[in-house]
Amino acid sequence: MSISRKGTTQYRSYRTYIPRRLCVKCLLLVLLISANSLAQVKSGTHSSHPRASMSAEAKTLLDEAIGVVCTQAKLDPKSSIAIDEMQARPSLPLQSPEARAGAERAQRLLPVTKALMIASLQQLATEYGFQKSPKFRLRIKQAIARVNSVQRVRPDMDSRDNASVYLSRPHVITFGTIFLAGLRSDEGMISVLAHELMHIADGDNDSLRPLVSAIGNRASDLTGLEIHGQRSEEVTCDLIGAMAVRAYITSTPSYESIARRIARSIQHNCVELDEGDEDHLSPRGTIRALLALNPVLVRELINDREERKLP
Ligand SMILES: [Zn+2]
Repeated sequence: MSISRKGTTQYRSYRTYIPRRLCVKCLLLVLLISANSLAQVKSGTHSSHPRASMSAEAKTLLDEAIGVVCTQAKLDPKSSIAIDEMQARPSLPLQSPEARAGAERAQRLLPVTKALMIASLQQLATEYGFQKSPKFRLRIKQAIARVNSVQRVRPDMDSRDNASVYLSRPHVITFGTIFLAGLRSDEGMISVLAHELMHIADGDNDSLRPLVSAIGNRASDLTGLEIHGQRSEEVTCDLIGAMAVRAYITSTPSYESIARRIARSIQHNCVELDEGDEDHLSPRGTIRALLALNPVLVRELINDREERKLP
């Protein structure tokens, strides 16, 4: 196979529709990454770093915020469909009204998402201390150029509930029609587009690996979950997605509650069947890691609920 995928937004339909050993991550690892860079990935997982931790109070707030996200999944008419529910749906033709509307939404939001994603990446690089390094600043610059070169969303029936980037076609994000239809809000769509753009930013040499590893290590420390290697990349892509959505909410005020809009960026993870694998946290583990990494979102989800007396 000459085409290789950098990674999908980890909506785990590959378990159902792609044999497990041929999953996207495996393609990535087997076809793209040399043994050398694979070794770097592995060695990077045990680097020393100051350990972060969460207080009991912070853990309680985190659980409350997760409750808000998944309650909104049921209350919000524009909520994103849960991954496991999307998996169970039949394929959706390209010409179906829902798929066409989703494709139009994705293409329309691509330019603004590129700008929001780049700002989020720069913010993370600063927060994690990488802007001090001239070498890493150059890598960020190159990553931004890759993101800016993305031009198009390609709807694809066979991709079902996945979104993917193929390194042989770095200007295109391929988006399954079920997924296009299942993300029913601008916020849901931006989070996934930004996720894919982060894979493109990281590029075929995992050039942002030091930042990705630092984020994975921090998420591991905070949650006690094992978040290294490919899991770190997926969590970082999701974190960038949530940050991009938060910035979008600020720039587009609305009568909808902030909590409802934030929830749309992560609530596709509010699954009934909560399973992960070597390369992916479970969906609910993903929500936990994202909110642990971004306590501002936790506060906003909870404050908004209290103001509105939501359950
Ligand atoms: Zn991904």
